[in-house]
Amino acid sequence: MHEAAETPAWAALAYLISGSLFILALRGLSSPESSRRGNRLGMAGMAIAVVTTLVTHLPFQAGGPFDGAAAGSNIDWVTLGLILAAIAIGAAIGLLTARRIAMTAMPQLVAAFHSLVGLAAVLVAAAAYLNPEAFGIATRITPIASPSFFSIDPVSRVEMGLGMAIGAITFSGSVIAFLKLNGNMSGAPIMLPGRHIINLGIIAAILGLIGYFLTDQSPWVFWTVTALSFLIGFLLIIPIGGADMPVVVSMLNSYSGWAAAAMGFTLGNSAMIITGALVGSSGAILSYIMCRAMNRSFISVIAGGFGGDAAIAGGGGAIDRPYKRGSAEDAAFLMKQAEQVIIVPGYGMAVAQAQHALREMGDLLEAEGVSVKYAIHPVAGRMPGHMNVLLAEASVDYDKVFELEDINSEFARSDVAFVIGANDVTNPSAKTDKTSPIYGMPVLDVEKAKTVLFVKRSMGGVGYAGVDNELFYRDNTMMLLADAKKVVEEIVKNMGH
Ligand code: NDP
Repeated sequence: MHEAAETPAWAALAYLISGSLFILALRGLSSPESSRRGNRLGMAGMAIAVVTTLVTHLPFQAGGPFDGAAAGSNIDWVTLGLILAAIAIGAAIGLLTARRIAMTAMPQLVAAFHSLVGLAAVLVAAAAYLNPEAFGIATRITPIASPSFFSIDPVSRVEMGLGMAIGAITFSGSVIAFLKLNGNMSGAPIMLPGRHIINLGIIAAILGLIGYFLTDQSPWVFWTVTALSFLIGFLLIIPIGGADMPVVVSMLNSYSGWAAAAMGFTLGNSAMIITGALVGSSGAILSYIMCRAMNRSFISVIAGGFGGDAAIAGGGGAIDRPYKRGSAEDAAFLMKQAEQVIIVPGYGMAVAQAQHALREMGDLLEAEGVSVKYAIHPVAGRMPGHMNVLLAEASVDYDKVFELEDINSEFARSDVAFVIGANDVTNPSAKTDKTSPIYGMPVLDVEKAKTVLFVKRSMGGVGYAGVDNELFYRDNTMMLLADAKKVVEEIVKNMGH
């Protein structure tokens, strides 16, 4: 019998409440203003779900809870203690990581967390397979306690197979994404010959074996699906590189949700099904939005290969071309004279942690009567919303922060575009050069401003996609070559005079 049938009414209601809190949490997270509230609602939803699951699944010693003994009299305290200790250790690690992690390392942290969701789905599927009776998904066919002596429900076999496969793909894919984003492995795509055929063959084999699992629940079927799924996770992500990585991270986020939802069906746990579906669909929507922001098709991202040539072009040639170099004093003078300045933050601002100094600079300019706006590209930085988070941390007013499509037409009417640590998201080769690896990605039209001030550390340093930026050499561009925070602090000093 499926466990869902045994869920008491109060628990079903509690799961529904926690599911609703998760939906409200996602809604809250959609804007920096309400994101704290969203986080709190999510935490409350998770607390309700965990407590409900613990109470409805209290471990009892032999005989079980429904054998007539007084409730609570034979609770298995050792098992309960182990569960609570595991929760405490996990929470402590989470808390410590959240406090210590640098904002620039968030993408790899997210990838690492996805790998844990995938692994959890694999472990739950394996536990359900090895002990199906305990999960209420099997019929005993002989009295001997071993998986082969229980017939697992056909529906549960499919759910378990899918949960295991998606979980394993999420795990191994996320590990590769983590290694690439963390710099332990080259971010460039690694191409295996004939990979499309190999990958399609493995996916077909996984699906075929899950179908066969319906007629034969032998261990070899289950474990072969597991091994092939781990393998395909590696193979799918290894050829992806360059600026496609953010899409991959959000795609793996989506997979981790579907793996959890599939396991929610096996466990008969509605909170897990709701949460999994929310994560799965929001991850899929985010992947779609990011693909659109980079003008890439989902299929071409999955097929991989992006950024290969770019990595070779990286650091490349054009270093000797002439360019104009300015000082913080020049920049302060130019901006004080301006009517409107648009600030374009990018990854370098995050590295330098220049957001607080930047806000101070914006405040000083406004005090001089200059209109100051911030332009955020959807893939600026190294994770979705990266720049919004940093600007919010520095208390920049939300109504001064604009998305690409809302601000792009304003550059032509602005005196200064102040580009701080952004590179790829301003590169006009995305508009004109069909051979550029970022061709087709919508970019901020900074070059249309009267003057472009570019803050970066050196002429040789390239952005994530590894390509040179022709804007550095234009007549209306002035390079401010130093650490972003130092440059802005200098500008602030100079604005005082
Ligand atoms: P880029 O990666 O294109 O460029 C960063 C720039 O910052 C470089 O020019 C670098 O030059 C400069 N820089 C680095 N450190 C400092 C510092 N301390 N002070 C001053 N400048 C510094 O950044 P963008 O934000 O423009 O573009 C984001 C890129 O990352 C896109 O290609 C995007 O696709 C990709 N990406 C985005 C993700 C997302 O979800 N947002 C996730 C993963 C990748 P120098 O070394 O000379 O200082």
